[in-house]
Amino acid sequence: MNSPSAPVVARAPGRVNLIGEHTDYNGGLCLPFAIGLATIAAVRPRGDDQLRVTSREAVPGDPHWQEYVVGVLAELRRIGWEVPGLDIDLVSTLPLGGGLASSAALECAVATAIAGLLGVPLDGAGRRLLAEACRRAETEHVGAPTGGMDQLAAMLGSDGHALLIDFADPDSPVTAPVSFPVAEDGLVLLVTDTRVRHVLADGDGGYAQRRREYARGHPRRRRHVVTENARVRDAVDAIGARAWARLGALMTASHASLRDDYEVSVPQLDQVVDTGLEAGALGARMTGGGFGGCALTLVAADRAGVVREAVDAAYAERGWAPPRHHLVEPGPGAEVLRGIG
Ligand code: ADP
Ligand code: MG
Repeated sequence: MNSPSAPVVARAPGRVNLIGEHTDYNGGLCLPFAIGLATIAAVRPRGDDQLRVTSREAVPGDPHWQEYVVGVLAELRRIGWEVPGLDIDLVSTLPLGGGLASSAALECAVATAIAGLLGVPLDGAGRRLLAEACRRAETEHVGAPTGGMDQLAAMLGSDGHALLIDFADPDSPVTAPVSFPVAEDGLVLLVTDTRVRHVLADGDGGYAQRRREYARGHPRRRRHVVTENARVRDAVDAIGARAWARLGALMTASHASLRDDYEVSVPQLDQVVDTGLEAGALGARMTGGGFGGCALTLVAADRAGVVREAVDAAYAERGWAPPRHHLVEPGPGAEVLRGIG
């Protein structure tokens, strides 16, 4: 048994979105999966009502980062949890602001650790409750207008599965696991971090602007959402049929729509996609909100090295800081790693 002062430790994953981008806040469909890169929170009651948070990855001068934690505590208290004063220590293997949902991972790691501390069971309903509390922490407290995909992926992800989410009723999104046996057929998913950083918490940023434009009926933005929802449905069918070339083509079409109709790509993302396809990938697209962040490439395992090298060479030719690559596969959602003993 742990000593009374031993922390409760929880892990929550980042995610990539396979397809279905900028649809979560527009009543649409998306298909993310939880990945191995993750944030870990160690949480210990203090004996007073103060909150102290440290993060190994916190960027000096980042004015927002502790607000994500403050927001999670506020939301859990709002739904009636008796959360005591806490010491919280965070470590993460995720890039911050890289489009792999480090913000949701931080929120969900903290919330999951607190659930462990308070003995709240993490069944399906409990996981949904936490996902919603974490989404509200980000939108209401930090002021980042996100749609809820990231928190659901972090809380409901499962090994070997993507998560189909339907936001038709935004207050009660419907989720379904989709078996995604891509590795069995000799394919890998390569995430390439462009190293271009976006700031979602900036309320005047491009993300918030796109939301407003869509809400006002901007025709090109609307066309992206309509065609993207159809692509998500087709992607679920393609995965079911193990039609990987078709899945790849849908990913590439999604990228073109995000680049041309939603206008959230940047030259580095377009370069990774174009170079990957030229080097033999089945499909590629930006993943996450855009304006930087990561691209996702579906490629035969034995071509992945060629794609990486081609992308690195294209970057070097343009004098851009080298990208970072990660192989990702669908992994489990948030979990308590060490409980109260
Ligand atoms: P993404 O979620 O795609 O990484 P966001 O802009 O939504 O991008 O969130 C990134 C922000 O979240 C960071 O700028 C920082 O404020 C906060 N953040 C996320 N993870 C951590 C962490 N481990 N430590 C400190 N701050 C973090
Ligand atoms: Mg985020």
